[in-house]
Amino acid sequence: MDKHMKEIEEKVHNNIRLSKDDGIYLYNSSDLIAIGELARYKKLEMSGQHIFFNVNQHINLTNICVSRCKFCAFGIDHDDKDSYLMSPQEAFDYGAKAVDYGITEFHIVSALHPDMPFEYYVVVVRDLHEAYPHIHIQAFTAVEICYFSQISGLSIREVLQVLKDVGLGSLPGGGAEILKDDLRRQLCPNKAMSQDWLEVHRTAHQLGIKTNCTMLFGHVESIEDRIDHFITLRNLQDSDPGFQAFIPLPFLPENTPLNHLKRTSAIDDIKTLAISRLMLDNIDHIKAFWVMLGIDIAQISFNFGADDIDGTVFEEKIMHAAGARTQTAISKEDIIRLIKEAGYIPTERDTIYNILKEF
Ligand code: SF4
Repeated sequence: MDKHMKEIEEKVHNNIRLSKDDGIYLYNSSDLIAIGELARYKKLEMSGQHIFFNVNQHINLTNICVSRCKFCAFGIDHDDKDSYLMSPQEAFDYGAKAVDYGITEFHIVSALHPDMPFEYYVVVVRDLHEAYPHIHIQAFTAVEICYFSQISGLSIREVLQVLKDVGLGSLPGGGAEILKDDLRRQLCPNKAMSQDWLEVHRTAHQLGIKTNCTMLFGHVESIEDRIDHFITLRNLQDSDPGFQAFIPLPFLPENTPLNHLKRTSAIDDIKTLAISRLMLDNIDHIKAFWVMLGIDIAQISFNFGADDIDGTVFEEKIMHAAGARTQTAISKEDIIRLIKEAGYIPTERDTIYNILKEF
């Protein structure tokens, strides 16, 4: 172990915050085992032997999108033969059919539809909440919330309040990509910029709405951009806490305008999970989202700082449009088995991390 790694070890063991230089050093180091040991130390300190999962139903209301981000294979035009839009009744039925599987969460994320009014989204949340008040609704990325503000003329705070009043429980973490506007202008110029994204999460936290946060990595960003992204999230969590989990998302180039780029390597995926655990010392959970990472990497990541594997996702569409080669769903039994195999305690949670059952 060299001098800088020793210093980082000292900091981690004494709960001293890592600096930007430390983060960059870790990314440039090839000592994956040392990085993993530190991240695992931190994970055990923060969540013990638990690996969390939940049982949820993803509902993607539409894939018709006005934004057309360069890294996205999900959003398409109105007249594309594969475009779809669920009516509120169809969305309700789609959610309802998973209730008997014991889901504890509806997870609703969609494209930015050119014509549907804000009321459409309000009705979807309201109807599901009225019929299934015990099932948590995690819905709409900060990008969607900004878009709702734009199409309704309401402020971000008003949009969030209206949704909260009809049953919204929490926000997912999508749409963060890399929180740097020069990159966003290249990759996704037609949607919320960095300050907008941060403003939605800040306001949600102030309203008592928990949220998650993400980073899309492995496209045109630099290592420094990634570390700056971690620090931006860490600063928001310091000033207005409310992030529950960070979810690093590797860019899947297939079927996107950036399909000349290569998929991130397993080492990059694992390192990113581990470094995020070390840098984000004020966010309780690091999620290895198996839909994008693949089951194998997700399982290994439990020894590299991750403490959550998301859920038994029913029929996920967005990542699979971009060529995710994982299954579209995984059974609860399989999740329990693969967590046990890795030597941890499978722990079913609800969306806001109340423990429902240990296996
Ligand atoms: S990432 Fe979201 S906003 Fe961008 S094109 Fe895809 S669905 Fe639309």
